[in-house]
Amino acid sequence: MKYDYDLFVIGGGSGGVRAGRVAAQGGAKVALAEEYRMGGTCVIRGCVPKKLMVYASGYSEAMSDAEGFGWSIGERRFDWGKLIGKIDDELDRLEGLYRKGLDNAGVEVFNARATIKDGHTVQLSTGETITAKWILVATGGRPFLPNVKGIEHVITSNDVFHLKALPKRILVVGGGYIACEFAGIFNGLGAKVTQFYRGAQILRGFDGEVRGHVADEMIRKGIDLHLGTDVMEIAKKEDGLHVTCTNGSECVVDAVMYATGRLPNTEGMGLAEAGVKVGRRSEIMVDRYSATSCDSIYAVGDVTDRVQLTPVAIREGMAFVETVFNDNPTAMDHEFIATAVFTQPEIGTVGYIEEDAREDFDIEVYRAAFRPMANILAGRDERMLMKLIVEKSSRKVLGCHIVGPAAGEMIQLAGVAIKMGATKEDFDRTVAVHPTAAEELVTMKEPVR
Ligand code: FAD
Ligand code: NDP
Repeated sequence: MKYDYDLFVIGGGSGGVRAGRVAAQGGAKVALAEEYRMGGTCVIRGCVPKKLMVYASGYSEAMSDAEGFGWSIGERRFDWGKLIGKIDDELDRLEGLYRKGLDNAGVEVFNARATIKDGHTVQLSTGETITAKWILVATGGRPFLPNVKGIEHVITSNDVFHLKALPKRILVVGGGYIACEFAGIFNGLGAKVTQFYRGAQILRGFDGEVRGHVADEMIRKGIDLHLGTDVMEIAKKEDGLHVTCTNGSECVVDAVMYATGRLPNTEGMGLAEAGVKVGRRSEIMVDRYSATSCDSIYAVGDVTDRVQLTPVAIREGMAFVETVFNDNPTAMDHEFIATAVFTQPEIGTVGYIEEDAREDFDIEVYRAAFRPMANILAGRDERMLMKLIVEKSSRKVLGCHIVGPAAGEMIQLAGVAIKMGATKEDFDRTVAVHPTAAEELVTMKEPVR
């Protein structure tokens, strides 16, 4: 049978754009549908604008610290509108680059919503019906909101980049990546931040000491963090949003931001009709090669709810192209993915956390907690934390966890060593780079436990 295209990609985000572009560069005839803006969550409403806001919010501390180094800083004023304008310009530029990349590779782009009619047919919101030998679903995810009275008054990470003004008082609900990152952003920009997390400690799934360290520093920087606390009800009144908590207390804020996880975009996609199985969280179920239960349909990225990170969606997209178009079955390797959380202080982490490693291996833990050099003249008490988890018998470093300035930059390189199977002795025989904070990674002599 003759199809209109070799590949039809649904979703112009991290995974879809990469897969579409690489397949087209390899000679396939490719089309891609995007219903909103090219670049997807990461570029338009995720990693990129978020990281720019993290930079912006860091200047308040940097200016205070500068005084410890002899600088006198005059009046400080932050202009939210100016920041948003600059971010918007940058997003327009990046979106243009994404479109140009697809265009140069020969991918035909449809600015439309696409749904699946059958294993080889896609229906566009513009009315067109298109056939393809292969369909790749890369529709990402969206914020999940729990059923709470007054939830219609809250904002999510989708709305935060469109706020007209910086809220003076904000409540952030959740204890994951997004909640903790945005609590830090708003705090650094000068808002009064309250954060509610329903569990005993924020950042579930991260190393226990890391979680405690970050929570303590967030509190020290001024975030009013309430653990074991959730929202009962939100009411809009003249003086702001009145939030009643599970402990009966009430707070009044100008905005409530929910960051309570994300759900895969599978609703109304016609997946069941095409024989594509979805799981309990409405994620598309795939095998190691990102193949779905329908032979001609694959899925990558957040819609599969494996590891919700941009570089993972990109790698899954590339593995799909290798498998389907280059006759080289390639499974995505989800082991030892290094990641950063742009909390303030920042986290960089790769591999096993101490708690999990202890269950599976006989381990040693190496740990350093110290005040980085810059903080001494700055008069800042904030400490840095570094941990290495080592398997006793093989001496392999199973995990590395860093909290502090540039932790995200450091963990990328520690990730290479750990992915290669480096031992503690490999770290030890690596000469330190001095004076840096990172040198602690190769100078930890005795295990703490
Ligand atoms: P997306 O990038 O979400 O792309 C999916 C695209 O499909 C969207 O553009 C959507 O409009 C489109 N679409 C959906 N349905 C249809 C349809 N039916 N027809 C046509 N188009 C459709 N990850 C990191 O690695 N580092 C970070 O610092 C980071 N920060 C983040 C901060 C925030 C606030 C958020 C929300 C996420 C962040 N992430 C980060 C996660 C990262 O953004 C995602 O993992 C990544 O974007 C997933 O890529 P994707 O291709 O699966 O989906
Ligand atoms: P996460 O899954 O990280 O966190 C969700 C948080 O919401 C958890 O603290 C969870 O609590 C809480 N929660 C869930 N349901 C409810 C509920 N009904 N009521 C109250 N609290 C609730 O999701 P995020 O939305 O923060 O981020 C989504 C994903 O995006 C991340 O997992 C990450 O993969 C990616 N991301 C990556 C970033 C990076 O690389 N720097 C930055 C931002 C996002 P509990 O722990 O108790 O379940």
